[in-house]
Amino acid sequence: MKSCVRRHLRHTRRQFLVGATSITVATAVNPLVLLPQQTRTHIILLGTKGGPTLATKTGRNNASTLLLINEVPYVIDCGYGVSRQMIAASISLDRLRYIFITHHHSDHNLEYGALLYNAWQASKTQRVDAYGPFGLRRMTRDFFDYMKFDIETRIVDEGVDDPRKLVTVHELNSAGLVMQNQDVKVTSLRVRHPPITQSYAYRFDAKDRSVVISGDTAYAPELGEFAKGADVLIHEAMYLPAIEKLIQQNPGAKRLREHLLASHTSTEDVGRVAAQAGVKTLVLSHLVPGDDPTITDEQWTEGVRRHYRGSIIVGKDLMEI
Ligand SMILES: [Zn+2]
Ligand SMILES: [Zn+2]
Repeated sequence: MKSCVRRHLRHTRRQFLVGATSITVATAVNPLVLLPQQTRTHIILLGTKGGPTLATKTGRNNASTLLLINEVPYVIDCGYGVSRQMIAASISLDRLRYIFITHHHSDHNLEYGALLYNAWQASKTQRVDAYGPFGLRRMTRDFFDYMKFDIETRIVDEGVDDPRKLVTVHELNSAGLVMQNQDVKVTSLRVRHPPITQSYAYRFDAKDRSVVISGDTAYAPELGEFAKGADVLIHEAMYLPAIEKLIQQNPGAKRLREHLLASHTSTEDVGRVAAQAGVKTLVLSHLVPGDDPTITDEQWTEGVRRHYRGSIIVGKDLMEI
């Protein structure tokens, strides 16, 4: 797999060099276009496991993805472990500037508050903008209430800025434009994740690269439409044979099976969406089950391959794409 990733990186670098030529030409015409080194968009998978249970010792971390756009980190989902994984990826927490939550399941938001806290401790002054479905404002307030004693003690004792004033929450009530700055435009699509009605996919259109993150969703052809023309689609994936094995071992898990089938996407259907979108690269992340080491990369990709001919990467924690 390592050589596959290296090959992939070489491939993207080649593509990048081709792109760089045109960007350099554009620079001569438009001085507002930044140099390619500054605009390079990196993807770092911080956690690639789906589901609320904690990773086993050797398993994957809970869901979180980081985009580094013009050197600024954008964190999408805050599964447990996100702060440590950022440090492991050599992204210091004082750089945190943007957080996006796809939906309010714990494998996507359990460390949201703690990440805000850790970033405050690292920088003391950095502003953070947080985007997510309705409920995020209350969750932010509740977290700061939970830590009220510590925060207010430190403000008086250490003379630090109040972290409650450094965080701006933007709640999404519908799909569409989420935010835009000079580096990136972020849009959202409501996806299918019953019983949760507000579950979003995000699309990041940066100058050099477009990246779509599916969030949690059942097979959604509208996501294929939303991701049209993107360079990279990061899609959740469920490996059905392993789910069936799990159910056989635990007959009480019938309800879990129903939930999984109604609200997540099988590897075959991920292939359908990626083919429909026509993306260059598909990354499988939020893998379910995410802590079964017997499932090989070939098994993860064989269903996808039936429909999709582009480059497929089976996500691993701390992989950079
Ligand atoms: Zn999830
Ligand atoms: Zn979910």
